[in-house]
Amino acid sequence: MIGSDSAIAEQWLRKGELVAIPTETVYGLAANAFLEEAVSKIYAVKGRPSFNPLIIHTNSIQKLESWGIELSATALQLARKFWPGPLTLVVPKSSQIPDMVTAGHPSVAIRIPAHPLALALLERLDFPLAAPSANLSGSVSPTTAKHVDEQLGNKIPYILDGGECKVGLESTIISCVHENPRLLRLGGLSIHEIEAELGFRPEFNILNNENPMAPGMLSRHYAPSSKLVIGNAADYLNIFDSEQLVCIRFSEWVAEIPKERQLVLSPNGNLDEAAAALYATIRKADAMKPELIIAEKFPEMGLGLTINDRLRRAQIQ
Ligand code: AMP
Ligand code: MG
Repeated sequence: MIGSDSAIAEQWLRKGELVAIPTETVYGLAANAFLEEAVSKIYAVKGRPSFNPLIIHTNSIQKLESWGIELSATALQLARKFWPGPLTLVVPKSSQIPDMVTAGHPSVAIRIPAHPLALALLERLDFPLAAPSANLSGSVSPTTAKHVDEQLGNKIPYILDGGECKVGLESTIISCVHENPRLLRLGGLSIHEIEAELGFRPEFNILNNENPMAPGMLSRHYAPSSKLVIGNAADYLNIFDSEQLVCIRFSEWVAEIPKERQLVLSPNGNLDEAAAALYATIRKADAMKPELIIAEKFPEMGLGLTINDRLRRAQIQ
């Protein structure tokens, strides 16, 4: 069932059931993080590998502290600046957090999301919500309640509908476990903003990272069912007819391909707007069943870095 009643969502969560929730990044598939049985349903419903840890969500730093989770000075600085918002912090775990949530790691990923309906729900709860993206493992993340319904509607009792996700990309993940903060995943909060707050750029070795602690970073992830490549449409026209292609473009149409086979994310050239439209557009391109989706390489700045990261992971190898 789809609805927008946080009291109904609360009831299901208290019973140990799964509820899809809106956030500003993407829709999450949420369970009471303190109930191992509920958390195990997340892995089962998504087909998520058990080694892939979950992010827990709440609405206040005080609640985190009451569950024994301590934030270092740097973690607190980032939390105060960017929460609620698209930033996840990895910090030392407390004993109250089940091992299943962290996939056995001694650290836990935490976030306060910026969606009003998610916050209204979280305020009602005296437990955190473990929530990965509400899609089958490896596929494109949902940015509307309808996307969730299409993949998981018959597997979960309730989808809390909060409209379209404003950011549209998963959270940026920073580990604050060691003395120096480390970027684990590019995401919806621009790395430039984090750099400006800290006064330095966190260690940044993610481009060739196959770290099993960060499966969002596995080389093939966020993938549509049609093949996707990053490149120029013109280079493929001696292999395919233009009718067999769909292009995902930043701001401009190209001359060589019919306009109706080009999906432009932001005619004004705004990277935030492009990010918000990215996943819905990949789904739309996929639904046109082309032989090949050709995505343009985006400018390597701001959320363009995250968009390129996700496109690379959606690409055929
Ligand atoms: P998602 O699948 O988008 O919900 O993101 C969850 C991601 O958060 C995982 O795939 C990891 O990359 C990261 N993560 C969660 N918990 C931890 C942790 N304890 N240590 C490192 N990364 C984590
Ligand atoms: Mg995901």
